[in-house]
Amino acid sequence: MRFLKSIENQTLLAIVLAIFIGLSAPGLPPKIALIGDIFLRLLKMVIAPLIFASVYTSLAGLGNISRIKNIGLKTLAYYMATTSLAVITGLVFVNVFRPGANANFEKTTQQIAVKGLTITDLVKSLIPENPVKSLAQGDVLPTIFFAFVFGLATLSLNEKSRTNLFSFFEAVNDALIALIRWIIRLTPLGVFAIVSNIVAEKGITPILELSSYVITVVLALFFHAAVTLSLLLYLLTRENPWRYFFKIREAPMVAFSTASSSATLPISLEVAEEKAKIPKKIAGFVLPLGATVNMDGTALYEAVAAMFIANIYHVPLGLHEQILIFLTATLASIGAAGIPSAGLVTMTLVLQAVGLPLEGIGLILAVDRFLDMLRTSVNVWGDLVGCKIITKLS
Ligand code: ASP
Repeated sequence: MRFLKSIENQTLLAIVLAIFIGLSAPGLPPKIALIGDIFLRLLKMVIAPLIFASVYTSLAGLGNISRIKNIGLKTLAYYMATTSLAVITGLVFVNVFRPGANANFEKTTQQIAVKGLTITDLVKSLIPENPVKSLAQGDVLPTIFFAFVFGLATLSLNEKSRTNLFSFFEAVNDALIALIRWIIRLTPLGVFAIVSNIVAEKGITPILELSSYVITVVLALFFHAAVTLSLLLYLLTRENPWRYFFKIREAPMVAFSTASSSATLPISLEVAEEKAKIPKKIAGFVLPLGATVNMDGTALYEAVAAMFIANIYHVPLGLHEQILIFLTATLASIGAAGIPSAGLVTMTLVLQAVGLPLEGIGLILAVDRFLDMLRTSVNVWGDLVGCKIITKLS
């Protein structure tokens, strides 16, 4: 029974039970769906103010521009390097396993309306015309952008104004963290309700039907999380990856259940600071940014999915096209918001770049939620590994 004392273990048990109940008694989960909704809403409730307060306080708390530059550049270098490694892993696995190559699919794609995403959209979405509106709408990137420049501007103020402003937002941040600690107590219940409903709704038939594709994505994600990221963590910080994962495991579990890096952000921040003892100044900057920009799992998945669609449509993709996939999958993962299925939408960028039909997305829709849960866990693990590495290097 001691095992069940920690929230982390209760959450794990909740996930296992939820899968079991979802499959064996699919009539039950809809009756408790409200609990899952409440948990998700509570998490979402804190995201917008938390992103602003944590990015702002960590930047202003760093104290001078050269330290910000130092940490900022290392963070971006880490994001770019690991996302690239993730896409390469995806491409290697998909070339070895070749899912869909021998499939005789009659193209029974589900019809979906997709709108192409362009690079100009991506740039425009970064700078807010009205930061209050971005905050109110929960648009993460423009909010981070504003918090960033506002933090920089604060550093140029005189001592008195700077301290006043900083203390205010630091107190806001602390109050939000206290609130998150209350919300975390609901995790096992919330996770049980969410996961059991998804399993009851989707079942496992689509996963079995697209098994070669699903297996390729799962193995590649596992390799990236357990080998590449763990090795990087060990080599750069000498931290035992398993022990580190064990400390912060609540975050990937919530990511798995919610399929949303943004909804997981409050938990990631809490475990990074409380369990992994990452300094607030680093976690408060690396994690909010990572939740939208650094998505290793999504990048990897987009590359595999594009190649799978090409295989199904019998479109041969050579080195040149795969380099395009590499570039666009990286961009598309940066552009994806930290919400469920965001990767599916930004994948239009990848498909367009290599001339694949956008309806191809319809082929993989049925298993997207399951793969989204896994790739989001990898996204969040990547952010938390980054936190530790950047702490060590700074
Ligand atoms: N759901 C993912 C996340 O929040 C994004 C995606 O790949 O769809 O990290």
